[in-house]
Amino acid sequence: MAEGDSILRMARRIDGALTGSRVSVTTPGRRRPEGLSASSLDGLVLERVESRGKHLLLHFEDDLTLHSHLGMHGGWHVYRPGQRWRRSPSQAWISLAGDGAEAVNFGGSFMRIGGRKRLLRDPRLVRLGPDILSPEFDPAESIARMRRSDPGGELGEALLDQSLVAGIGNIFKSEGAFEAQLDPNRRLESLSDGEITAVLAATRELMLAAVESGRQPKRIYRRAGEPCPRCGTRLESRAQGDDARITYWCPGCQTT
Ligand SMILES: [Zn+2]
Repeated sequence: MAEGDSILRMARRIDGALTGSRVSVTTPGRRRPEGLSASSLDGLVLERVESRGKHLLLHFEDDLTLHSHLGMHGGWHVYRPGQRWRRSPSQAWISLAGDGAEAVNFGGSFMRIGGRKRLLRDPRLVRLGPDILSPEFDPAESIARMRRSDPGGELGEALLDQSLVAGIGNIFKSEGAFEAQLDPNRRLESLSDGEITAVLAATRELMLAAVESGRQPKRIYRRAGEPCPRCGTRLESRAQGDDARITYWCPGCQTT
């Protein structure tokens, strides 16, 4: 699944390619966005592209917005005019062609087009916690939400809960806790505010580096059974939380 770093990179890419352009809109595949029809964006100028956690928002003139969430397999590609697409047009929900570039969405968990005010009241956006990649990210607000939610919940689960902190996915959950040397199996109630702040700061730093480099760190992710790159202990993994997402950690140097 695309995590916040990939979504922010996509937002910047589409922004650089199309913001200020008047777009022509086509829907090559079978699926259609929810809400207004795709043709309602045809001929409008793209004014701004925004990411919020794992959500992407394309703001157009006339106060219209396209809201996209990529789920496990979706993606946005940016092409030059006439360039061959890397996925089949039958999988494309929407193509936005502007001056010298075209942004094409291939699938995702949902896409919706609507009036901006109404769309921004969508519960899927309203319930989001602070965006870990926002310049205004405030760990105190995330910690307050964690303390209010489920004190017996585990750190690894809390990092994935988009209503507590938005943008972290399965890779950065494990890598961030490893970087901060905290065991992701610990319950929130056993962690000090300072410890949670440290893991959020470490995760944010790793994600910001990935936004710039385009490469996600995989020091322990999917490396169960291998020696820890820090201390040499065998790395472990387990399915964590209701969704049984796999968490990786080092029992040697991540404090319990
Ligand atoms: Zn270790």
